Amino acid sequence: MLNKTASLYVVATPLGNLRDIGLRALDVLAEVAVVAAEDTRHTRVLLDAHGIDKRLIAAHEHNEREAAEKICALLARGESVALVSDAGTPAISDPGARIVRAVQQAGHPVVPVPGPCALAAALSASGLGDGRFLFQGFLPAKPAARRAMLEGLRDLVATLVFYEAPHRVRETVGDLLAVFDGERELVVCRELTKLFEEICRMPLAQAPAWFEADANRARGEFVLLVSAPVPQPGLSAQSERILRALLEELPVKSAARLASEITGVGRNALYRRALELRDAS
Ligand code: SAM
Repeated sequence: MLNKTASLYVVATPLGNLRDIGLRALDVLAEVAVVAAEDTRHTRVLLDAHGIDKRLIAAHEHNEREAAEKICALLARGESVALVSDAGTPAISDPGARIVRAVQQAGHPVVPVPGPCALAAALSASGLGDGRFLFQGFLPAKPAARRAMLEGLRDLVATLVFYEAPHRVRETVGDLLAVFDGERELVVCRELTKLFEEICRMPLAQAPAWFEADANRARGEFVLLVSAPVPQPGLSAQSERILRALLEELPVKSAARLASEITGVGRNALYRRALELRDAS
């Protein structure tokens, strides 16, 4: 089952439901010499559940460099290693990338053993997975940096996927609403594969009230997905934004002329759109 050459196997493990583990993942975990785990106690529970007794070493964000050295030494001795995180796929918003790089640089094979990943699970069940998406992972913890990051994503025509922790989820949803159009859809994926699994879709504008309605809705683990902005016919999201901003300060004609100079879009198209926006206001 294992490669003849000692290799590092990057093994995906369940997000919650212990039965969500691939047959090949179980084979690999049973056959390697050592399992390098983000939290050895956590991984022991998984291995016990599947009757696997294995030597475990720690490989978490605070010891990744030393863990990489240890793993390279094992591989050099001809012993294969499996790398696992607490849940899902290692090295995706999880420790592991540094270890993978070190092992590759030392000339040992790295073999993915794919399986659960919160991003893939959420996207696949969100109804938003049929086009381009951008996986942001965790947003910055500091509010100013978080808002700045969101501003940079606002006009991207892609579903946006975020990981979020329960203590910050309401704050983040507030920031999403402050930066993105409230008509964009939000899909909240909570506690995937677990007892209280919940997948809820709503206009972003309704999200704060949805969280308010039940304190339990802010508990557990979250993937948040925001639908792509709907492109305005004829105008890009950015041109539309610039035109709207100018219209707040200037008459229609001047706003269209200035927007045309800034964006390079034809003045007539901007003028027509400016009239529509003025009439709708
Ligand atoms: N590497 C893992 C993966 O990609 O599946 C993710 C690890 S990251 C440290 C943990 C974050 O993944 C959580 O804060 C949450 O955003 C998301 N997550 C993990 N398990 C989840 C679950 N069962 N339901 C919803 N989100 C989950």
